Amino acid sequence: MNGEVVNETVKGNDEPPLSSEPPAAEATALSVSCALPRPAQNPKWSDWRWQIRNRIRSFQELTDFFPSLRSQTGIAKVAEKYPMAITPYYASLIRSADLSDPIFLMSVPQGQELFAPEFLHADPLEEEEDMPVPGLVHRYRDRALLMATTMCSMYCRHCTRKRVAGYQESSISVQQLNDIVTYLKAHPEIKDVIISGGDPLTMATSLLERILMAVRSVPSVEIIRLGTRVPVVLPQRITNELTQMLAKYHPVWVNTHFNHPNEVTPESQAACARLANAGIPLGNQSVLLKGVNDSPQVMEELCRALVRSRVRPYYLFQCDLVRGVEHLRTPLSRGIEIMEYLRGRLSGLAIPTFVVDTPHGGGKIPILPNYIVSMSPSHTVLRNYEGMIVNYPEPVVRETHGRANNCGKSHTPGVWELSAGHSSVIAPSGAARQKRRAGRKNHRAEDVATHPEFSSLLQSILSESGG
Ligand SMILES: *Cc1c(COP(=O)(O)O)cnc(C)c1O
Ligand code: SF4
Repeated sequence: MNGEVVNETVKGNDEPPLSSEPPAAEATALSVSCALPRPAQNPKWSDWRWQIRNRIRSFQELTDFFPSLRSQTGIAKVAEKYPMAITPYYASLIRSADLSDPIFLMSVPQGQELFAPEFLHADPLEEEEDMPVPGLVHRYRDRALLMATTMCSMYCRHCTRKRVAGYQESSISVQQLNDIVTYLKAHPEIKDVIISGGDPLTMATSLLERILMAVRSVPSVEIIRLGTRVPVVLPQRITNELTQMLAKYHPVWVNTHFNHPNEVTPESQAACARLANAGIPLGNQSVLLKGVNDSPQVMEELCRALVRSRVRPYYLFQCDLVRGVEHLRTPLSRGIEIMEYLRGRLSGLAIPTFVVDTPHGGGKIPILPNYIVSMSPSHTVLRNYEGMIVNYPEPVVRETHGRANNCGKSHTPGVWELSAGHSSVIAPSGAARQKRRAGRKNHRAEDVATHPEFSSLLQSILSESGG
């Protein structure tokens, strides 16, 4: 990168920031100003390729931006293990170069990243285990995740794919893409392909188009999703050329990754507007991070700013057990506390689902405060966000007609099959007790819930409770 150009444009200017920006009532409420003046005088600033070429990649370049960090030589060591890249645009959102600043925390390496206790892993979600062909994670039946590139414009310190993001900055090969298409064609149950990475929007438009074309060549794929942080860290990339290309492959959905209201700027809002105007529904996936957004009020402000930008908060992720991110992880209870705060205060449209992506590839599990206070066959006692406690009576059973159709058995056993009475137990296969039982003669392997006696018992309970 050409450090001097960035240096010149960003520092040594005491003019009040944003003085040339058009007044935006919403934007001031969002506190969009930054300590470093925006180099509106640099004509290249809005060129996304210039932003990528001029990313802060070394300790030297970082201290050109932030001279106060010169004594923190440990940063260089961390960046050797976990690559650093910060676009000049994203660096300009840092208001003070220390741990009190959320943008700083998310982008500047910290010594604690080298802390590596045993319970942390490079691949805590075991994505590599669920990869039937290189570059495709097939975990859930109906959807799969395609890793298009290992490159991002900014390397988030909290990245769950720290093991891949940024090491080589390479994109998927033609051979890999062909193998993925072959797999998708052989698995027509996959309806939803998530193009992720790295960040797929760092790729050249023509390259990305080849991937979209390949995925669209599979007739069973219904929707394509893109997972990208580009609207947040490199909004200049959302050009009309890009959105026109994406619109050819509809239905295309985009999930972006805003974590803090300081990231919602006139630039990022305009990028979201360009995507939305191309008919692309926008969602947001945040990660709950200590010192960044582990506050109910900050999350409320973020969610409000997102819906104003036509972005629907989709997930709030508990931080994964990923090596190098421990200093940003919060207790699970913090997320529950935030959800407790948001519900009732904020439009339902603006409330994300809080999820834990579980170790060992268990996938995403939604977590909520407990709203059910008690249950009997006839009544459920619920509490609302104010603490009001009410009873909700169950319907009185009168056998005039049955349930809606298509409640039949599904292919794979799961918790729903238990609650529907299609199976009676899911047991750990490795348990010693199970092994002892399996070794015995006349081993009982029947399904209690499907017994006729059981069904009639169930019926009588239901009609009793219906009074
Ligand atoms: C998160 C994820 C998905 C998508 O899950 P949704 O709940 O549908 O958003 C798909 N595959 C993998 C491997 C994932 O991690
Ligand atoms: S943009 Fe996404 S993949 Fe890239 S570093 Fe950030 S979290 Fe990781």
